[in-house]
Amino acid sequence: MEKTAQTSTRNGKSPAEAPPDDPGTGEHPPSRRDPLEDIKRRVYLASLIVGFPPMPLLWATARPEELFLRVGLPVLMASCLWCMWALWSRRVPLGKLERLVFAALSIFVLGQLAFRLSIGVGWEVEQTSLTETTYPMLAILCIIAQLIFDTRTAFRLSLVLFGSALALVGAGALLREGGPAGVSLEQAAWIVQQNAFLAAVIALVCATSHVKAQLARQRTLAEAMHRLAHTDPLTGTSNRRSVYAALRREMEAARRYGKPLSVLLFDLDHFKRINDTYGHSQGDAALRWIANTVRSLLRTTDHLGRWGGEEFIVLAPETDLEQATLLAERLREAISLDQPPNLPPLTASFGTATHRPGDTPEDLLRRADEGLYRAKARGRNRTETAA
Ligand code: GH3
Ligand code: MG
Ligand code: MG
Repeated sequence: MEKTAQTSTRNGKSPAEAPPDDPGTGEHPPSRRDPLEDIKRRVYLASLIVGFPPMPLLWATARPEELFLRVGLPVLMASCLWCMWALWSRRVPLGKLERLVFAALSIFVLGQLAFRLSIGVGWEVEQTSLTETTYPMLAILCIIAQLIFDTRTAFRLSLVLFGSALALVGAGALLREGGPAGVSLEQAAWIVQQNAFLAAVIALVCATSHVKAQLARQRTLAEAMHRLAHTDPLTGTSNRRSVYAALRREMEAARRYGKPLSVLLFDLDHFKRINDTYGHSQGDAALRWIANTVRSLLRTTDHLGRWGGEEFIVLAPETDLEQATLLAERLREAISLDQPPNLPPLTASFGTATHRPGDTPEDLLRRADEGLYRAKARGRNRTETAA
């Protein structure tokens, strides 16, 4: 076989180099959107659409003393409309928008408190606006902080908001009543009660978020452990244990549904020479290249595994012996006609075997191994099937 010939992959790229979704035009695939960001944008937009209508109503019914609301609410409404546009048009990065909204709302809520403090409204008015707007808004801000920031930052920001609000409400009461002596027991109890409620909300939101973050971390860790336990670290293919488990499953399915199943075992020819001549790291790179080349030619239902050293295994469900031999030839040609970067072309020898009734995994593997042995004995770079 002509070693200098090139494979017929599109763009002249080797199968391993070509990205899986490259349409072959040489253009970059369109950048994908982050699905989590998409969900967040939709949720925020829906919340703004739902939350917007009460604002004009609140503005229209605001008492004349609530000067801050009468001036501040139109600004807030305009900001909401701008946010809806920003979310819809995607002109502003989501993270930036979230931080901007959080800062603006915090300033609005605390500003409202400070404003009331500066104009000195009466206790009843203060009490009503605290329960109707300030404390619900502070609770909402704590929830927003948990959505936007990591748990620790959100907790700190919530504490800053809570502390500032408490200081402003306390200062307001002291100023209004002319010192601690003027603050009635009833007023003090009310302030403590409201702030205790807010503190409970913050604690609950932060605790829930912390538990959620811990669970997510555990899940990521468990997934990483699972990946490590089942994957060959060098080539990213299934490791021997994992592919053996897959073989047992596929044999069971083949038996149950009467479908064919074949196994291809292949081993690189004279691979020791590659290591000896080009070094072990080039040998490793060649193994990765082999895995990528073969993977790009398999069906999604096939399994590719590293059986050991420079020996790989392919499980091909719904594939009879004839089709398995054709597949092995296709893989063998792809390996021998292309070549890994900075290395001479490689070749591999293939042994194929198909599942027979009553086979154990060892029977099937032994026949594939016999085929491979025969391919080596008959000159390498060929496919053989055991009798
Ligand atoms: P044959 O055609 O008979 O298979 O000859 P060969 O040289 O490929 O066979 P042999 O079993 O003598 O050598 C296999 C070589 O594969 C030796 C070993 O150093 C190399 N090898 C096994 N695992 C790795 C690996 O993870 N990385 C690298 N770079 N080389 C490996
Ligand atoms: Mg070898
Ligand atoms: Mg070997």
